Amino acid sequence: MSIVSTDISKAVQLLNNEELVAIPTETVYGLAGNIFSEKAVKAIFKTKQRPFFNPLIVHITSADKLDEIVRYVPEKAKLLAEAFWPGPLTLVLPKNNNIPKLITAGKDTVAVRVPNHPKTLELLNRLDFPLAAPSANPFGSISPTTAEHVEGYFKDHIKMVLDGGACQRGIESTIIGFENDEPTLYRLGSTSVEAIEEVIGAVEIKNKKDIAPDAPGMLDRHYAPQTKTILVDSISENISNHEGKRIGVLAYQDCIDDERITFQIVLSQSKSLLEAASKLYDALHQLDKQHLDIIIAERLPDVDLGKSINDRLQRATVR
Ligand code: AMP
Ligand code: MG
Repeated sequence: MSIVSTDISKAVQLLNNEELVAIPTETVYGLAGNIFSEKAVKAIFKTKQRPFFNPLIVHITSADKLDEIVRYVPEKAKLLAEAFWPGPLTLVLPKNNNIPKLITAGKDTVAVRVPNHPKTLELLNRLDFPLAAPSANPFGSISPTTAEHVEGYFKDHIKMVLDGGACQRGIESTIIGFENDEPTLYRLGSTSVEAIEEVIGAVEIKNKKDIAPDAPGMLDRHYAPQTKTILVDSISENISNHEGKRIGVLAYQDCIDDERITFQIVLSQSKSLLEAASKLYDALHQLDKQHLDIIIAERLPDVDLGKSINDRLQRATVR
């Protein structure tokens, strides 16, 4: 029997019983549990095979609940919460004593956000605890943007995926922390740096990719298909390097007309970065199923969400 269901009451019941439920958000599906249940939180790490040193994001219903989770909110964090919540922005702030160390990997800070999905907001409203929820995929693999992706990964491990359709934004939240009240971006994501800087001015970026853009060894392998993947500026110039192989192509805007290509996906014919982001992971899931020898992905324009998409594609190439 399928674990995919739209029954919110059943999700409430499971979560109250310290079980896990995969939940829809606007970014990707999350693998959720009660933040105060050691059993549930341990099960999240175990199910994902996620190392305990990698902390989880706490999901709440509104910024009003922030005081229950964190002990201090810098002025710029307040502005960001006002501008972007509910939405794909995670704030890393000093944690309250009641937040279990397991959630924060022993750190004194906690990552928190308000997801923008009607089903998950309703679910959170019906629970009397926040939800810890990392992406609902095995550690390092492609993130799930449909209930079926989650089912494919975890049908033998969890009892329910709350179906909320395909995720509208499609890549993870942007993560911002604060050092001496000044913002630092830890992860590029669905809220663009440009949009953030419009609200609070310049933001320092501490993304590994920016520290060593040309050193793949520095990069986390993450968001990665099983199939060997490369990221290039021009697909048509690159194809001849893979003569005789089963070639998959992930193009941004234009379909590449070349009969050596076995399978091709175009992310956005109308050249919309928003559309490209929303389709990115499903495209990688589909490409990964075609028994290809190589996936050639095209680098997107390095602005706005293009930066976040390129970050994910870059990490998908690390083996
Ligand atoms: P995921 O939910 O799978 O997208 O992963 C959550 C992300 O949030 C990971 O990249 C974590 O490293 C990051 N994160 C969670 N808590 C913290 C924290 N206290 N400080 C810095 N990063 C955090
Ligand atoms: Mg993840």
